Amino acid sequence: ATLQPSPLLSSLNGEQLAAVTLPQGHALILAGAGSGKTRVLTTRIAWLLSTGQVSPGGVLAVTFTNKAAKEMMTRLSAMLPVNVRGMWIGTFHGLCNRFLRAHWKLAGLPQSFQILDTQDQLSAIKRLMKQFNVDDERFPAKQTQWFIAGAKEDGLRPGDVEARSEDDRKKIELYQLYEEQCQREGVVDFGELMLRSYELLRDNDAVREHYQRRFRHILIDEFQDTNRLQYAWIKMLSGQTDAQGRFTPAPHSSVLAVGDDDQSIYAFRGARVGNMQDFVREYDVQRQIKLEQNYRSYSNILDSANALISHNKKRLGKNLRTDQGPGEPVRVNEATSDFAEAQWMVEEIRHLVREDFERKEVAVLYRSNAQSRVIETALFNAGVPYRVYGGLRFFERAEIKHALAYLRLLENKDDDTSFLRVVNFPPRGIGARSIEQLQDAARARGISLYGAIAGLPGKAGANLSAFAARIDVLREQTQGLSLKEIIELVLDTSGLEEHYKADREGADRLENLAELVNAAESFVTQEGFGRDAVALPVDELRQSLASQGIDPSRAVLDEPLAPDAETGETLSPLAAFLTHAALEAGDNQAQAGQDAVQLMTVHAAKGLEFDAVFITGLEEGLFPHENSMSDVESLEEERRLMYVAITRARRRLYMSFSQTRMLHGQTRYHLRSRFFDELPEEALKWLTPKQSGFGQFAPGGAARAGAGYGASSGYSGGYGGRNPGWSGGGQAAAPSAPVPRKSEPSHGLRVGMQVFHNKFGEGAVLALEGTGDDARAQVKFGRHGVKWLALSVAKLTPV
Ligand code: ATP
Ligand code: MG
Repeated sequence: ATLQPSPLLSSLNGEQLAAVTLPQGHALILAGAGSGKTRVLTTRIAWLLSTGQVSPGGVLAVTFTNKAAKEMMTRLSAMLPVNVRGMWIGTFHGLCNRFLRAHWKLAGLPQSFQILDTQDQLSAIKRLMKQFNVDDERFPAKQTQWFIAGAKEDGLRPGDVEARSEDDRKKIELYQLYEEQCQREGVVDFGELMLRSYELLRDNDAVREHYQRRFRHILIDEFQDTNRLQYAWIKMLSGQTDAQGRFTPAPHSSVLAVGDDDQSIYAFRGARVGNMQDFVREYDVQRQIKLEQNYRSYSNILDSANALISHNKKRLGKNLRTDQGPGEPVRVNEATSDFAEAQWMVEEIRHLVREDFERKEVAVLYRSNAQSRVIETALFNAGVPYRVYGGLRFFERAEIKHALAYLRLLENKDDDTSFLRVVNFPPRGIGARSIEQLQDAARARGISLYGAIAGLPGKAGANLSAFAARIDVLREQTQGLSLKEIIELVLDTSGLEEHYKADREGADRLENLAELVNAAESFVTQEGFGRDAVALPVDELRQSLASQGIDPSRAVLDEPLAPDAETGETLSPLAAFLTHAALEAGDNQAQAGQDAVQLMTVHAAKGLEFDAVFITGLEEGLFPHENSMSDVESLEEERRLMYVAITRARRRLYMSFSQTRMLHGQTRYHLRSRFFDELPEEALKWLTPKQSGFGQFAPGGAARAGAGYGASSGYSGGYGGRNPGWSGGGQAAAPSAPVPRKSEPSHGLRVGMQVFHNKFGEGAVLALEGTGDDARAQVKFGRHGVKWLALSVAKLTPV
């Protein structure tokens, strides 16, 4: 297809144009937020296609989220008349899944292998640990999960991990057992998707050469957040590493990496900013492009972001400017409680809507998912439509997982995780004892639970056989049905629907189950399960192979849905749907298309932009997070996270914090985040009077008590700080000034106080929580960093 380049390229600035039209070769774009990196990447794909330099099948583009991938496809199809569905554009996980679907046999997987999400993975590990009598106090399941995920991210199999201690040896053993369990059950976790794809490319010359020939252009967005394995995977697709570990890029490949070191926010999950330097060195990158013009935000917002990030020492250094003028100041609000903070936000959102902001252009960001509940409640009570990204997403809800477990058993009866989830749900009198018996039998014979049922004696055997028979009958019944009909049948015959109908609080769950049916239907129609999802690239690939003189029937072809060459077996729509459910987690299922306020963590907001943004809970211990306050590296990552948050806003930015907050069932007293002290005062507008920093708590004076909220738990002792009459009254000059406490807590400490500890020396109290024997204080010590101390043990004396 020929295309006039003008509309495609005319709106770009000089630097962007240079990046889009780079000649073949490797390049790095290193540039700040909102400078058009993603736009350049997308436009480059369109330019390469429209100028005939590459066919749609020859492009591989990696983005960080499904949302970003969809956005890229939407933008591309707006620019060009191509079938973008068949193109290899997606997340690392999505692309690796696609790859393994095509080569399941070579990868040693069953054709209908299913994917374990993080939740499933944890329960699989717990099960394993119980089975092998591993002390879960010494080896918490979560830690084991991190250990395994971490090893996989570094490309290590159990045999490759170095044991530095006895504990390590145990964990490695668990990793080994876990692998065997997954293999037996025909399931893979997220890390496995990546690692298996990598290993297959590494070990199979024909497959590797095929893909290297095929993907002439590889483009990676958010490159700063790639981990070791992801980078190694890209190298596999675009070059050779010799025995000495020296890498040589393939002659015809072009890799474009796009990123911003200041937005690296996944170090805690193994991301390596160092991949950028490695990339420049190993690919001998000659072209590094900087983009310095920000097109997203007004300068008050941008100046705030720039000032903040300048406090980080470890930076590669970039500039960012905007021509848009100052715009409105950044609005800052201090609330007395998390509840009051949410109320204030609801009011502001109402104003915004009246001012003609679309709801979907308003984002509420928070540091951790636990903060969303209060906000959701406030929005819900006010009748403001909203949508939560992340957190417990659609496919992760209990009722949906139950339904999916039945569906997964239909596909793969050896999936023990799914088996255990529903063997007694809805309850059918199969007790824990019976299940233990079954697990013992399965282990003894080295087979799946399902397989071990036959031969189990007694009542346990009978009950379990009845369950197995039920599933077998269901599987029979689903033959020849459409995906939608299968799901309806399962909801009905499994007893799930009935179970939730009988449950007084089951209405929501029933609604979600109905939504699952809708999701299946739209999966078939919209996601294009079926021919057109793959038709284009494969046909094209055949042609291109033929033109290179290669017999297409002998080449490795990657048709995810193609029937098996020997048996004719093909992936069922159900298996495809289950994969979709595991990978997508269903951000967009409920309320899709409705004009709703967007709620998400800052991590989830990366790469996105909104007209108005609220950054909430800007408090010490929350943002920056308490686990990240004690060392410089983690604190710098928190600051980058804050930089990401600020730079999401186009027109209006709000920041808020609260004096008190309910967390994990307890009231905590917080100081406002140190990040406020790193912002340019002239860009801010304080909606509530600004109190000074740590000194805001006058010596001997009263700290501000959590006010205005009803049921706070376990709160009757020490603090006695509930003050239902709070209205700001009596403080005419400063409506939100401190309210004196009625009684002091027994330990006599207050947030902001300087205290002395025998071992750690002098420090400032950052937060207090709990009462009586449970009272704890978070203290920031000059030399020893931030610590939580149990006040019944630690002796803290005010200085
Ligand atoms: P982030 O670092 O947050 O991912 P980014 O560098 O990827 O940001 P984009 O999302 O590509 O930036 O662009 C930011 C905004 O600026 C988008 O709305 C984009 O359409 C717009 N934009 C980019 N370049 C131009 C341009 N030359 N003219 C007008 N608008 C532009
Ligand atoms: Mg981007």
